[in-house]
Amino acid sequence: MSSYPPSGPPPKTTLRQRLADLRGPAVPPRPLDARALAALAANPGCGRRALLDGAGVDKTALAAALGSPAAFGQSQFAIVRGNSFEARVKDDGGAALLRLVHQHLGTGAEPPGAGARVPDLTAAGPEGRAARTALALREATAAGAWTLLDHPMLALEVAGTPAYLEPDAVVVHPDGRWTVVEIKSFPLIDGSADPAKVGAAARQAAVYVLALETTAEKLASAVVGHTVLLVCPKDFSNLPAAAPVDVRREHSVTRRQLGRLTRVEDLAAALPEGLSFDPARPAEELTEAVSAISAAYAPECLAACELAFHCRERARTADEVTALGRSVRGELGALTTIGKALAAAAGGGDPDDPTSAALHHAARLRAEALEASACPS
Ligand code: SF4
Repeated sequence: MSSYPPSGPPPKTTLRQRLADLRGPAVPPRPLDARALAALAANPGCGRRALLDGAGVDKTALAAALGSPAAFGQSQFAIVRGNSFEARVKDDGGAALLRLVHQHLGTGAEPPGAGARVPDLTAAGPEGRAARTALALREATAAGAWTLLDHPMLALEVAGTPAYLEPDAVVVHPDGRWTVVEIKSFPLIDGSADPAKVGAAARQAAVYVLALETTAEKLASAVVGHTVLLVCPKDFSNLPAAAPVDVRREHSVTRRQLGRLTRVEDLAAALPEGLSFDPARPAEELTEAVSAISAAYAPECLAACELAFHCRERARTADEVTALGRSVRGELGALTTIGKALAAAAGGGDPDDPTSAALHHAARLRAEALEASACPS
């Protein structure tokens, strides 16, 4: 017979329930995508982003509820234009896309003929689609024929959280190589594009390459290419053009950084019970909740994270030198606030600290130079 109240320790909340409580009861989990993983890899020291992304918190809604809405993301017009360009590139069974892959990365293979393989990848849910994709990759590799996988689903576990990623396309070559294809709507002008946009596309593609490798591990005959194909509109037309992009550097950086992320359950376990990021809660409560997780703000966050305005404000309020940039933070060593750095420059720092001494010396030189320029002899 059971007794009430029950004896012994209370039942432990499961991780799934804990993460749902953190998101809020009516908030569906936001899946991790390649863009989010690339941003996480760029700032692995930020526990705040790692936890919020791992728990599937809607950071856009959270930023708005905090009173600091995110100011980046594609406009509706850009999304529609991008979708229509992608549809054009994949028209006619992906003939134009396969021609571009053969032209740039074909390495002596026969050109893809009419009616290349485009397997059906539909299945229920992301897990079903990932399993269907793995099967299609296996069959295409065994067939040794040009095959286009349109919007395959790839699985990758990151810090204990499964992520399902959807590249624009993966092409299987007749020799068993797999190539990631990224289709973007920014133009390739005379064969080159905006380096910042190409860099962002390369970081995103590197995440897809990592995910493909986990599938390829089970297949001895498969080789994942570390050169991806970027397909963009040629000049200012709507015609597709392509450029191979070597992502070896991004691949190794991303793999190393994602491996350094703290597991989401460890981050969640350190939080007080009852804490929630539900956007329906009052702004003061949310501010307190967000402050409970350590962050690593840097100006680069402005282009990569929905919470950037909020974190920048907090970093400035706390006088943190990180608000001035990661390189400044690195140079200043133990001087973690702007106030401490200014005090050191004025001669009030630790005399045994070489950074304080260097700052004071630089400030003296500057003052002397200003004095000399003010009174020419
Ligand atoms: S904006 Fe804030 S939460 Fe996002 S990565 Fe930067 S510090 Fe972390």
